[in-house]
Amino acid sequence: MHAQAVIAQELERHPLVAECVHTRHINGSDNRSQVDHRIGGFQPFSTLDWPGRMAAVIFVKGCPWKCAYCHNRHLMTSKQGAGDLRWSSILGELERRTGFLDAVVFSGGEPLASPHLVQMMHEVKALGYRVGLHTNGADPVKLGVLLHQMPRLVDWVGLDVKATADDYDELTGVAGSGAAMRSSLGVLQGSGVDYELRTTVYPGVFDEARLCQLGSELLAAGEKRWVLQSCRELGSTRDMPRSFDLEAVQCQLIRQGFESVTIR
Ligand code: SF4
Repeated sequence: MHAQAVIAQELERHPLVAECVHTRHINGSDNRSQVDHRIGGFQPFSTLDWPGRMAAVIFVKGCPWKCAYCHNRHLMTSKQGAGDLRWSSILGELERRTGFLDAVVFSGGEPLASPHLVQMMHEVKALGYRVGLHTNGADPVKLGVLLHQMPRLVDWVGLDVKATADDYDELTGVAGSGAAMRSSLGVLQGSGVDYELRTTVYPGVFDEARLCQLGSELLAAGEKRWVLQSCRELGSTRDMPRSFDLEAVQCQLIRQGFESVTIR
């Protein structure tokens, strides 16, 4: 069944909807959580995670995929850890920063894997912030349910596109992950929510030919704008060595039909 039809069904019965109803109930008297969720990380200021916005970034724990190159392994599990932050502390910090920041981005891990995401988003929204979401697209149904909420809860989405269709499942270690990401892209395209497609150019995953192949797949899906993120060495601002010239591929992709290919 097409993802949009599934979303229509799920709007009536998905756990996220139940969570939304619960959250509205909470918000009726008090916008604060009744549960002190544990968060994997908090970046108080970023201009990169939602381009054009001054944003704080909240790193939500838990991810259903197992990418071999994952730099955020501490965020892959949703189990509580010694370094976890309290949601109440983060919320207090965001309250102090109103007027200085204009947005909060939920990143991960995979934020949609958290059963508390909608509740946290409502609480951030209640402070007057725009809400952004980074997602790997693993759950198009949850994404669709979230994006169809009115009044609008999510204002912007950054969707990770990790590999060509042929390489996806091997890269993530999860069968069907590429199909899920493509369904999520379809959900975004039909949502009316502003979004960005981003690909981190890992040298072990992409050569010139594979990057151009992924470009062809995105063009065939109706996309004309793409962000390529250089892969940095862990703990460094240096790019990992590549066997090809990324700027030359950028020009090639423009020739293929993209209106905009940004290297970040
Ligand atoms: S999707 Fe992201 S957080 Fe999840 S395993 Fe892959 S790189 Fe790590």
